[in-house]
Amino acid sequence: LETRLQADSQLPAVTKDGVRITLLANSGLQADVLPGLKYGAEGIGLFRTEVPFMIRSSLPSEDDQEIIYRNLISHYKDKPVYFRTLDIGADKPLSYMPVVKEDNPALGWRGIRYTLDNLPLLITQLRAILTAAAGNEQVHLMLPMIASTEQLDQCLAVLHEVHQQLVDEGVPVCLPKIGIMVEVPSCIALLPFWRKKLDFISIGTNDLSQYLLALDRNSPLVGKWYDPLHPSVLHELMRIATTSKQMNLPVSVCGEMASDPVAVLLLLGMGIQQLSMSAAKIPLIKWIIRTVTQAETEALLAQVLQQDNATAIRQLGEQFLASKQ
Ligand code: PEP
Ligand code: MG
Repeated sequence: LETRLQADSQLPAVTKDGVRITLLANSGLQADVLPGLKYGAEGIGLFRTEVPFMIRSSLPSEDDQEIIYRNLISHYKDKPVYFRTLDIGADKPLSYMPVVKEDNPALGWRGIRYTLDNLPLLITQLRAILTAAAGNEQVHLMLPMIASTEQLDQCLAVLHEVHQQLVDEGVPVCLPKIGIMVEVPSCIALLPFWRKKLDFISIGTNDLSQYLLALDRNSPLVGKWYDPLHPSVLHELMRIATTSKQMNLPVSVCGEMASDPVAVLLLLGMGIQQLSMSAAKIPLIKWIIRTVTQAETEALLAQVLQQDNATAIRQLGEQFLASKQ
C-alpha cells in the first residue's frame, strides 16, 4: 500500500465525481519543508512561525527571520504558503521573552493576545514576512487566536502601517493575503461582519475542539474525552462552512482533523475543499479522496449530523471506509 500511495502522490486529489481538493502541508521546521514536496503537497497551509523561535536561545532578528521565510517561499515557488504569526505564550513560552504564571494558560496570554501586547515582536515579524514575500502573490498571512473585531482591526492597522513604512523606505514588498485561524469559538458569530477584512479563513480544529468542549487537549485526566468528532464540534464546523460559502470566503482546515480519514469524509461533505496536514499523511488522504464521490460524503454527513455521540459517528465513518476497500 505504501508504494502504491507513493506512486499516486503526484496525482491530483480529486473525488470520483470531479471535485478538486487542495492538499497542503503543515510545517514549522526547515526539516519538513522538502518532505512536503516529496509527498505531493501543493503548498504550505500552515507554517508555525513560533517553531524557529522556540529552537533558538535568543530572539531572531528581522534579517534572521527574513532568511527563514524567504527560504521556505523559494522551495514553494508559485505555490501558496500560509505564514501564521507567532503563536507563543502560556504553554509555548520563549525563554528569552517575558512570561507570567497563569492559572489557565490555554485561556491566557497566548497567540495574538501576546503579540498585540508585545508590538515590536509583531512588527518585526511582519516586516520580515512582507519583505520575504516581495514579488510573490501566493503568500498568505494568518492570525492566531483572533476572538474579537477589536483584535482583528488592531492587527490590520499594524499590518498596513508596516507595509507603508517599508514602501516609504523603498524596500520591495508584497502585501500578503490576510486571514485568521478560526480556533476561538467567539469568532464564529463574527465572521459575517468581517467579509471586507479577510481574504480567507483556516479552521484550527485542535484549539477549536479544545475550547468548544472545554477540554485540555493535552491533559492526561480529561484528554480521553477530547474528540473532534463530538457532534457539537461537527455542527459548529458545519456552521462555519455554511457561513463561509454564503460569504464567498475561502476556507480550509489545518488542524489534526484534516488528516483523520473519517473526519476528512465529513469535511468534504461540508464542502471544505482545502486541507493542510503533516506531509506524511497526504498520500493516504489523497487516496481516500480519490475513492469517494462528493455526493457520498454529503449523504454520510447528513447521517452523521443526526447522531448524538462521537462513538456512533466514528463507527458510521469507518463502516463507510470499509465498504470502499
Ligand atoms: C489548531 O489549533 O488546530 C492549529 C492548527 O494550531 P496549533 O495546533 O498550532 O495550535
Ligand atoms: Mg491553535
